[in-house]
Amino acid sequence: PTSARVKVAVRCRPFNQREKDRGAKLIIDMNGAMTTIQNPETPNEEPKKFTFDFSYWSHDGYTEKDDGYLEANPGSKYSSQRRVFDDLGQGVLDNAFKGFNCSLFAYGQTGSGKSYSMVGYGNNKGIVPITCDELFKAIEAGDKATKYEVTFSMLEIYNEQVRDLLSKDNPKGGLQVRQNPKLGLFYVVGLKKVAVGSYAEIDKRTQEGTANRTVASTNMNATSSRAHTVVTITFDQISKNEAGEETKKSSVINLVDLAGSERADSTGATGDRLKEGANINKSLSALGNVISALADLSSGGKKKVMVPYRDSVLTKLLQNALGGNSKTVMIAALSPADINYDETLSTLRYADRAKKIKNKAVVNENPLD
Ligand code: ADP
Ligand code: MG
Repeated sequence: PTSARVKVAVRCRPFNQREKDRGAKLIIDMNGAMTTIQNPETPNEEPKKFTFDFSYWSHDGYTEKDDGYLEANPGSKYSSQRRVFDDLGQGVLDNAFKGFNCSLFAYGQTGSGKSYSMVGYGNNKGIVPITCDELFKAIEAGDKATKYEVTFSMLEIYNEQVRDLLSKDNPKGGLQVRQNPKLGLFYVVGLKKVAVGSYAEIDKRTQEGTANRTVASTNMNATSSRAHTVVTITFDQISKNEAGEETKKSSVINLVDLAGSERADSTGATGDRLKEGANINKSLSALGNVISALADLSSGGKKKVMVPYRDSVLTKLLQNALGGNSKTVMIAALSPADINYDETLSTLRYADRAKKIKNKAVVNENPLD
């Protein structure tokens, strides 16, 4: 197995209308690999510094084209959707073709730009659709003697319950999550997994799944989902090796758009919303605990660390993505504004811990039986 760190990217979006209306000040800066954040209450103190594998400045320096696409101005440090795909999405594709499992997940408070980076809006397509599009382009240009098989599934975790987004009739209380006794991995019982033969089919399925999402509004962002959305693509390549035996190379690609990381009280939630917030925090704090435990393990300080994967549905399903057999990338989405200082700092700290995790990815290649 090749031991590799989880790669971490940060991305800072433009001011939104609410921030503009409140005369928000810019507290994030990026220079090379370094991201700094200024505490607005102590403007004379040095800003806090962080370094990440990829730093995407998408706050300013762009022009909106006629079709709505945001393009970098010549000489500006603006990172476009294409640029983010070229680093992160292309990496996922390359690894998938080699037979590695891959995971890409987006973390950050509601409205920070997670869905923009992952899925995108309008002509500003995100990493997920571009990666799916490029996957089929690569298959078409690929080896004609190889048989390619792609499947697609989409689920959401909402209040610690799993809903199949490709299904119209989900059982009350959600689908069950069980552990495979042989592999030790958790899976969702009865989740729909559809074969797809083109990008258009994936696009259609994604729209179907998106329409089935649980959407609840909060003060923070009226259209934002309060659920974790997980898209899983399996990619198999069946070919003959030099000895003439059929072998199968397999890759599982997990694409995760996490629910907002903010504490429930900062969104003005009450009643049912608050319960949701508490559960969302349960999954996300479990994720935080898993990341901390894995970071401790990887830094070698502590020998016996229990990694509490079982504490939430999210961490059960992300077990391989975190500390397991997967090449993993996390993208942390940042608000540029002083009014979000606390949440943005906590996102940066979360991301800083995640980059310490080492995974042990192996090529999944086996003879066909
Ligand atoms: P989240 O999924 O984290 O709740 P969104 O991705 O929906 O947040 O982003 C919130 C708003 O900010 C959207 O209107 C989106 O278009 C805008 N936005 C986010 N990131 C960017 C970016 N990199 N460039 C331009 N606009 C962005
Ligand atoms: Mg979103």
